[in-house]
Amino acid sequence: MDIKITKLDKENRREKIANDSELGFGRYFSNHMFLMDWELDQGWINPRIEPYHNLSLDPAAMVLHYGQEVFEGLKAYHGQDGGIYLFRPEMNFQRMNRSARRLCMPEIDPEFVIKALTDLISLDQDWIPASEGCSLYIRPTMLATEPALGVRPSTRYLFYIILCPVAAYYPEGFNPVKIYVTDKYVRAVRGGVGEAKTSGNYAASIFAAEEAHRKGFTQVLWLDAVERRYVEEVGTSNIFLLLDDELITPPLNGSILPGVTRDSVLHLARNWGMKVSERPITIDEVIETIKNGQMKEIFASGTAAIISPVGLVHYRDQEYTVSDCQTGPLANKLYNAIIDLQYAKTPDTFGWIRKIG
Ligand SMILES: *Cc1c(COP(=O)(O)O)cnc(C)c1O
Repeated sequence: MDIKITKLDKENRREKIANDSELGFGRYFSNHMFLMDWELDQGWINPRIEPYHNLSLDPAAMVLHYGQEVFEGLKAYHGQDGGIYLFRPEMNFQRMNRSARRLCMPEIDPEFVIKALTDLISLDQDWIPASEGCSLYIRPTMLATEPALGVRPSTRYLFYIILCPVAAYYPEGFNPVKIYVTDKYVRAVRGGVGEAKTSGNYAASIFAAEEAHRKGFTQVLWLDAVERRYVEEVGTSNIFLLLDDELITPPLNGSILPGVTRDSVLHLARNWGMKVSERPITIDEVIETIKNGQMKEIFASGTAAIISPVGLVHYRDQEYTVSDCQTGPLANKLYNAIIDLQYAKTPDTFGWIRKIG
């Protein structure tokens, strides 16, 4: 499939934000976007790069009523050598296909989409912030566009990619977060769609997140939906716990999103010879081992912040401080190791980075 490219006239192009530190996260979008359509009898058609623009959807478009939508999040980086790099992009598009299958949506060809993404980034490459720690966040999205009421798979879909320059998450160094354990609300249940990156999961999480914010916490720590005992995720990130010398993360049991960063942390820690367990861990074990000093570090992992140290846990009206509310050495080491790979500062022995320009 050839990608048709329509460029925005030079005089209509928006200037990128001059000062990288003002970018924030998710506020500005580049000048172009990639789109393609899917029709039941034709598959994917009409791949194109166009000026960034509003979508036109029928008010009956099925995504608006029944939530058939999946998305991804990855980043492009300016490497130390001036090249442009993606970090494990095939994992994102393979995951998008797993999410799509779960939502009865069509799959994309990961290599074709990475090619389209490469063309799009090349066109808007001056939007990749140059400052250390900044990057171009990439948001691939697929949604059901058939205008029809009635719950069944749509016969039409739109896939698109937009680009968003983002600032460093921790411009002044790590800032450990305070998290609120909820045993009242749940994010996802085994057998549901928790392991798919689909909008409904996030809509379902907002109420508890708002409650946590009101009480002064940054994120919610989610427990399993059945027994409300097992630790699952933090906000929209995976969770890691360093218990004595054992690095623990909950197993992918159906209600947990299989993070690319989670997988990278597991690889790195195993490669360093650490004892690494994907095993269930209860909130009672977490609290007990924070109290007796065995819990050395807790941190979250995800594309946006990479590693996010947890400094305080609130559970049932009590607050528990982890590693003196400081960033632990393991969180720090993992963060630096991943950053150094993403910005092509260290040899890529895992084959994780892909040079696209
Ligand atoms: C995206 C996401 C993650 C992190 O995945 P990465 O691939 O590491 O960015 C974790 N949990 C949830 C719920 C997510 O949506």
